[in-house]
Amino acid sequence: MPTLHLLGTGSAHSSPERTTTMLAVTEGDSTIVIDCGGDVAQRLLASGIDLETVDGLIVTHEHPDHVSGFPLFIEKLWLAGRRRSLTIFGIPEAIQQARKCWEVFDTSHWKGLPDLIYVEVSHEERAEVLEDDSFEVTASPGQHATPVIGLRVVSKRTGGIMTYSCDTEPCESIARLSNRSDLLVHEANGKGPGHSSARQAAEVARDTGARRLILVHLPPEIPKDEMQLVRRIFPDVEIGDELATYSF
Ligand SMILES: [Zn+2]
Ligand SMILES: [Zn+2]
Repeated sequence: MPTLHLLGTGSAHSSPERTTTMLAVTEGDSTIVIDCGGDVAQRLLASGIDLETVDGLIVTHEHPDHVSGFPLFIEKLWLAGRRRSLTIFGIPEAIQQARKCWEVFDTSHWKGLPDLIYVEVSHEERAEVLEDDSFEVTASPGQHATPVIGLRVVSKRTGGIMTYSCDTEPCESIARLSNRSDLLVHEANGKGPGHSSARQAAEVARDTGARRLILVHLPPEIPKDEMQLVRRIFPDVEIGDELATYSF
């Protein structure tokens, strides 16, 4: 089954329970990772995902909580014996940031590093990101302090749709991207500019016909009375747990 794994569910604010928001989608022996602000390899292993199955990494934007784990991820793939290439997808600003993070390290004596292939995604609505045997992934711009994309992942086998808002305040392009999602994974960092509250995420879920809303990019604490209001707007909502999985 196509499965979403919440590798991490936190924000840039420190919490004893949550690392930064990172996702993976898997089907069979194929894995696509979304963002790498923390120790992705450890989170993949904790989710029971073999590092060898990672076909691609999508970097949504240039902020540290989404990209700064990139060099560590490559080092860990290499030490785990990974030799086949890894493709990294992102808008130009995100790709450039990942490259800069990697290139500050002298890796010239590291033998057998996997080739890193960078693929730029256009920063426009419904931009194609990638298509493989299992998934078709498209992106649209969000509204944030830096250029950013949200992602829509469609399973070729089930037709199931998982949309990830990434960091954004409510905006039309992400609402259109989210249309009729089976899983809407929405940030709930707190009211913006550039971010959304849990209530605003619930409004997006309600207005775009989502089946289920999962809140991620969470602050250290969401007040209980806030969640009561959120459930009134959109009942099928849950606070994303570290390492939770969902079929779609
Ligand atoms: Zn950000
Ligand atoms: Zn962020």
